[in-house]
Amino acid sequence: MPAWEKNIRKVVPYTPGEQPKERDMIKLNTNENPYPPAPGVERVLRECNADALRLYPDPKITDLVQAIAGFYGLSEEQVFVGVGSDDVLAMAFMTFFNSDRPILFPDITYSFYDVWADLLKIPYERPALDDRFHIRTEDYLRPNGGVIFPNPNAPTGVLMPLCEVEKIVEGNPEVVVIVDEAYIDFGGESALPLIERYDNLLVVQTFSKSRSMAGMRIGFAMGNARLIRYLNDVKYSFNSYTLNRVAIEAGTEAVKDRAYFEETCRRIIRTREWTKEELRRLGFTFEDSMANFVFASHKTVPAAELFEALRKAHIYVRYFPKGRTHNHLRITVGTDHEMQALMDFLKEYLSEKQKESGKD
Ligand code: PMP
Repeated sequence: MPAWEKNIRKVVPYTPGEQPKERDMIKLNTNENPYPPAPGVERVLRECNADALRLYPDPKITDLVQAIAGFYGLSEEQVFVGVGSDDVLAMAFMTFFNSDRPILFPDITYSFYDVWADLLKIPYERPALDDRFHIRTEDYLRPNGGVIFPNPNAPTGVLMPLCEVEKIVEGNPEVVVIVDEAYIDFGGESALPLIERYDNLLVVQTFSKSRSMAGMRIGFAMGNARLIRYLNDVKYSFNSYTLNRVAIEAGTEAVKDRAYFEETCRRIIRTREWTKEELRRLGFTFEDSMANFVFASHKTVPAAELFEALRKAHIYVRYFPKGRTHNHLRITVGTDHEMQALMDFLKEYLSEKQKESGKD
């Protein structure tokens, strides 16, 4: 080992889902939206003025902050924007989780949380979800350095009712509670109204799922003006020009089109409910999901086997082989056509398996 190596920061990084380059694949592995962004976004890209790129973007991201504030009925001082919610969450970890006490998040959850905590040397504890993959509210009502959880949770899709979220926020007045609502637009009830009553609550959302813009990288946080000021102080101490000019403009257009956003979410919810019925019929079990994915386990065929078989058929889903999730597949809700193709494959594969086991 070279001498310099002993002093460097060593981390075990987060593993993002695969982005295969195949042409005819069915990609259900990273919870992207199967529909294009709002039509206004394409217009922005078409009319893009390359000359403007000589200039730095607006460090305050004013247009987009105003658009988001308008959409949700907030003031500009209550909104913070970043490069995807990953960026917003990383900033929030840096800003708000600064105690000697451990922060709390579930044992099964978004696998970036422990990576940020390790990177930033934030102590943490991971209370276990119950047997049905539900968060136990009481686990979060003890001394801690901060709380974060996604709602709905990922990769389980399980939604915590708003009254339970409120119990956690109310029970933790001495720390900041972050609710990561990456998937809230697919039928969940947002904690956003609670920010008016609880100044320790930060609600984080993204354009990557319900607004079909994972490739543009836009995320945002909403909370009390004081919290947002602290977040901005850290942002300006780290990287003041986060969003590029095109992202600011395209994001602003996307927010303006409420009708398109609502219709897209409705379509995904409809397809998700159909997907659940079909999966049940094929012998899968799962907790009810309120996200744009279903986290399912088959009664007889191991998830690892199904994952490989699907992959060979160019159908990509996500598999987390370690721990309690080792027998589940996380299946993103695609178009009706894609989900039908998935079901056709599974039906065929599972009936072949059944025939084989009948022969034994
Ligand atoms: N939170 C959760 C729970 C997620 O699943 C994801 C998606 N990987 C993110 C945050 C980050 O999404 P993005 O950075 O694309 O906004």
